[in-house]
Amino acid sequence: MKTLKIAIQKSGRLNEKSVELLKNCGLNFENYKSSLISPVSNFPLEILFLRDDDIPEYVQDGIADLGIVGENVIEETEVEVNYLQRLGFGKCSLKIAVPNNNTINELSQLNGRSIATTYPVILGKFLKAQGIQSDIRTISGSVEISPGLGLADAICDLVSTGGTLKSNGLIPFADVMSSEAILICNNKNGDSELIKELVQRIQSVLRAKETKYVVLNVPKDNLPAIIALLPGVKSPSVVPLAESDWVAVHTVIPERDFWDRISQLKQAGAQGIVVMPIEKIIL
Ligand code: ATP
Ligand code: MG
Repeated sequence: MKTLKIAIQKSGRLNEKSVELLKNCGLNFENYKSSLISPVSNFPLEILFLRDDDIPEYVQDGIADLGIVGENVIEETEVEVNYLQRLGFGKCSLKIAVPNNNTINELSQLNGRSIATTYPVILGKFLKAQGIQSDIRTISGSVEISPGLGLADAICDLVSTGGTLKSNGLIPFADVMSSEAILICNNKNGDSELIKELVQRIQSVLRAKETKYVVLNVPKDNLPAIIALLPGVKSPSVVPLAESDWVAVHTVIPERDFWDRISQLKQAGAQGIVVMPIEKIIL
């Protein structure tokens, strides 16, 4: 059987979460910082640890079959690859920011101004679509200090919390793109059985992350009101308790509206609520 190769970031913001995701899929491999390639002992897969900038091209050229990389890097390198799965981590936005003492407050005011960035391709397309002509200054790092040095009037850089911008006296001004880590594959091999198996494992881990397993005790009379509040994977399981007019309800609740649901359940008579993380959900 052919051994697949998946390229992930060697070190940096996506490394830890990429390794964690693959380990949660039950893949067994050593994560030596010094090695470039690590075989998986229980799946026909090898892990390549690379600079993130190189991942899209490695996948496009078939040197790696799969890759985990930020959408921003894929767009900037303009490669032809298949998007298999959005992974929900490494979330950030590419934003244009200006010094906070600046009078620029609409996009058209960027006409004729200079913007420093490490993302000239994405920024160029964005400005063209907006009909704006700016001078794009491509630099390789520390973009946020360029207005202070007099190198540019504005910057276009990745932002997650906005802390770096703020500490450099910059305010975000326009959103160029939002990004997260994506699982990509080479255009030719998206329907390989091994890739499908791996994607299914990844999806079962992601699904589990979005949900919690909840067990709660309810007086039997309150059961219809409680069940009406529960979405569940199918319908909730109801288990009898030693005390005959009480039951335990087992269900799965989406993480995003978790606290709202819990307070509604308490109001409807639920007690002794136990919440547990879920490892995998296989549909
Ligand atoms: P490499 O050494 O692999 O080239 P890098 O320095 O280019 O790494 P990192 O800073 O580790 O890259 O960021 C990797 C990815 O993490 C980015 O391309 C982006 O998709 C994502 N990311 C999430 N939040 C941020 C942020 N605040 N700033 C930069 N990147 C972010
Ligand atoms: Mg990089």
